[in-house]
Parts: sequence; C-alpha cells; structure tokens
Amino acid sequence: MASPRHRSSEKSLTFKININRIHHQSNNCNNWIKKDFENICTELGECPLCASIHSFSFKRLEYVWKWDVSIPQQWQYGDWESIKLFPVHVPLPIVRCEACGKYFRVEPEFLIKGTILTVPALVFVVFTYP
Ligand SMILES: [Zn+2]
Repeated sequence: MASPRHRSSEKSLTFKININRIHHQSNNCNNWIKKDFENICTELGECPLCASIHSFSFKRLEYVWKWDVSIPQQWQYGDWESIKLFPVHVPLPIVRCEACGKYFRVEPEFLIKGTILTVPALVFVVFTYP
C-alpha cells in the first residue's frame, strides 16, 4: 500500500497571523528605509476600525525581505554584469490605536503594488531565469 498523505499536518503549516494593515503612501523603497519610524504615527490618518484621528502610537519594527534590481543609468544592452539583484531589508512599523486597542502593521505602497520593472530589468529577469 502507498504511504498515506499527511494532509492535516500540511494544513497546520499554512496558518496566518491575523494583524490589521494600514497603507502608507510611500512608493519609493529608498526613502522609506531612511524614515524616522518612531514618528510614523504623525503621518497616519484615522484608525480604519474606530475612526479615531491621531490615536496611533509606535510599538516596534518588523522586517520583510524584498528583492531589488540595480541598473546603472547609462546601461547598454548586453552589459549584464553591471546589473545587480540584491535583497533589501524593509522595515514595517507596528502601531497600536490607543482608542480601540488594536494593532496594525504599516505597509508602504511599493510593497503592496510591487516593484515596477523597467524594460532592461524585465529582460534581465528573462535572461537569469532559464
Ligand atoms: Zn482605533
């Protein structure tokens, strides 16, 4: 008899951490990383759950990894060695609404929408993924 499938144990690995999200209108990764996250709450609007204004307080930072592509400004077709793909450690502030007590993860827009690939970047991806 074939070995049984462990469907239940597979399922237990896919649990999801349930935290609310707030979007931040930041579409540039480099500017985002340089931010003073202790003061991020001054840039947030109202709480999506209880509609309080300026009720957030900064708690801590979490991080995610994101791939970025670096292409020189005067890049010429065929110059593949000057293109670099590198990981970026992107901070995501965790804030708490002091009015309703809920926690939120602040996510910048560039993470949600994804990186816009230029034509050279797209060509690069095609060449490096056979
Ligand atoms: Zn609230």
